[in-house]
Amino acid sequence: MLRKTLFLSAFTLIVSTLSAQAQKTYVQCGRLLDMRQERAQPQSEMTVVVENGRVTAVQAGYQTGGPTDKVIDLKNRTVLPGLIDCHVHLEGETSKDNQLKGFTENPADVAFNSLDHARKTLLAGFTTVRDLGGSGVNIALRNAINRGQVVGPRVFTSGKTISGTGGHGDPTNGYRLSLMGVPGPADGVINGPDQGRQAVREQYKRGADLIKIASTGGVLSVAKDGSAPQMSEAEIRAVVETAHDLGLRVACHAHGAEGMKRAVRAGVTSIEHGTLMDDETMRLMVKNGTWYVPTITAGKSVADSAKIPNYYPPLVTPKALAIGPKLQSTFARAYKAKVKIAFGTDAAVYRHGVNALEFQYMVEAGMPAYAALRSATVSAAELLDQTANLGTLEPGKLADIVAVEGDPTQDIKVMQQVRFVMKQGVVYRQD
Ligand SMILES: [Zn+2]
Repeated sequence: MLRKTLFLSAFTLIVSTLSAQAQKTYVQCGRLLDMRQERAQPQSEMTVVVENGRVTAVQAGYQTGGPTDKVIDLKNRTVLPGLIDCHVHLEGETSKDNQLKGFTENPADVAFNSLDHARKTLLAGFTTVRDLGGSGVNIALRNAINRGQVVGPRVFTSGKTISGTGGHGDPTNGYRLSLMGVPGPADGVINGPDQGRQAVREQYKRGADLIKIASTGGVLSVAKDGSAPQMSEAEIRAVVETAHDLGLRVACHAHGAEGMKRAVRAGVTSIEHGTLMDDETMRLMVKNGTWYVPTITAGKSVADSAKIPNYYPPLVTPKALAIGPKLQSTFARAYKAKVKIAFGTDAAVYRHGVNALEFQYMVEAGMPAYAALRSATVSAAELLDQTANLGTLEPGKLADIVAVEGDPTQDIKVMQQVRFVMKQGVVYRQD
């Protein structure tokens, strides 16, 4: 016991000596949007000081530190906090043969593919993502990124999506009968509140950071209906209560209003897509403080892909054509109704790395550019319960920093060409 204590204090001493001598990085910013204010207040000629992966100071003027410190010149750039996409699927990506891939790819193949998706996402300026569902490879990917073994954004993942038999999260939809089997809670398929509890605990045990459910049908599942309810309110309630006991939040995929209302009443933290959201649902979300993650990019993308002959299985095409184009106008109504909005795109449904298209669609629908930027920084950090670490550039926050050319509050399209990316003090891109 004594020896252990001695060892620990020696270790602590070494660590603190190292950090006292650590090199600082001085990021000189021509224009800085630290995102702390509700209205845009760009500051000119500022320096963000980074040490041990965190911001330690934000100073006026161009500072350089001492002779051993490092200087990064972003005098011709607008600097912002790292962007956060609250709805991605890093495991997959849209393609004409996606259904076949479910039968030909091993988890190792999925893992190798996901590396490319993760790298593209980070280099596009998205330093943090909320991964909302895959096979479980997403959990291993998060761990590999955290260990520094592969390049990617910081990942908060829900592991495998939970829904009812034949629901949007049933991994055997569209299989022939002899292959379907009877998937259960361990596969994310539940029938009844008890199985809901079991499924949540299963994802918790595997290392999920949050829980994802599908309370209605979805566009890309090989099933007939895309919007009717697929979970009872009692099932959703059991999932939410169990998740909250374990310190996990619940994100709910929903297209139809009835499934959304059940989920909002049962206490989910966010509604994803929300395509056919009615005024009553919006009022309920405002009252309960439920977040809305719109994924307009995915809606537009599925509608476009559905026009290519045989791109999707026959059951999917009519749903993509009917639901896809509606997301942008739903977003416009929800924004006007003052529903809390966090940025999310459903990357994988379209190709990874162009996540910033969503900003343009949000602005087209009537959201001011600065508010759209806040949705991908401050608001997204709030949704992730990460306001202590993410969302703004100020002392104490993780040094996730991106830069663009020009002023995104005047021309939001510049967000589609991020020129500089730092994640936790490490530079991954500097054009
Ligand atoms: Zn999704």
